[in-house]
Amino acid sequence: MPSQAEAKQRKILNLNRENYHSIEADRDYLSVSQFKQFMTCEASAVAHLSGEYVRHDTNALTVGSYVHTAFEGAEAHQKFIDDNSESIFKKRGSGKYADFEQADQMIEAIKRQKLAMFALEGESEQIFSVHLFGADWKIRTDVINHQTHRFADIKTCENINKRFWDDKYDGWCSFVEHWGYVLQMAVYRRALKEITGDEYTPYIVAVSKESPPNVAVINFDPSRFEFELKYVENHMERILKLKSGEEEPIECGKCDYCRRTKTITKVIEVGQLIY
Ligand SMILES: [Zn+2]
Repeated sequence: MPSQAEAKQRKILNLNRENYHSIEADRDYLSVSQFKQFMTCEASAVAHLSGEYVRHDTNALTVGSYVHTAFEGAEAHQKFIDDNSESIFKKRGSGKYADFEQADQMIEAIKRQKLAMFALEGESEQIFSVHLFGADWKIRTDVINHQTHRFADIKTCENINKRFWDDKYDGWCSFVEHWGYVLQMAVYRRALKEITGDEYTPYIVAVSKESPPNVAVINFDPSRFEFELKYVENHMERILKLKSGEEEPIECGKCDYCRRTKTITKVIEVGQLIY
């Protein structure tokens, strides 16, 4: 990890748990989720960084964090519940909302699987920063085990076997590829190599929102990582120019931000709707 002295030298924020998700941290560092935002919609990513567009946490995100904190430890989970009690508990005092009842089932489903619990052994929520591909990156591992050189991330999904069409892969793929989780694992692995000098092996513990939930422990053929790192590298120049304001962002015309701000100026042919 670049030392605090190094961070100071380059006048960038020293990361901690409190400021990790702040706009200041997003301005000084690139993260996998920010990279994915730029790939989805440049205009919304730039508007987020300027403070013009504030994304609000969706219920799905709160459910995801609820599941995550359950594996950080009892204290972290209780703190999350206390901080978010209005989203979790029904107003009239009759238990949790259905999404969180479901989340409890997901947590139990993971805890029943020895292999999943084994994959999740290690230190929770570690933050690292690293200089890669011409930028400072921030990464945050769900679980990392420095003895066994493994790290793992918990991912919630609709159905672990669902197929998605994805232009990036020019074909059908799983939720893991579609939501950029292979890219995330590739960048994290590369970052950890840079920081520690060791090769870390990533795992995903996936849990579905079905009832009863499905659980899987997923690993990666290492050949997948090169493709993802090349993909990141290929887009870095543009992203850095967008972040520094040297280039103008393009609107995707479809996302939450674009739908709020766009003015339509031309008619489109039917065929254009799905491209
Ligand atoms: Zn957009």
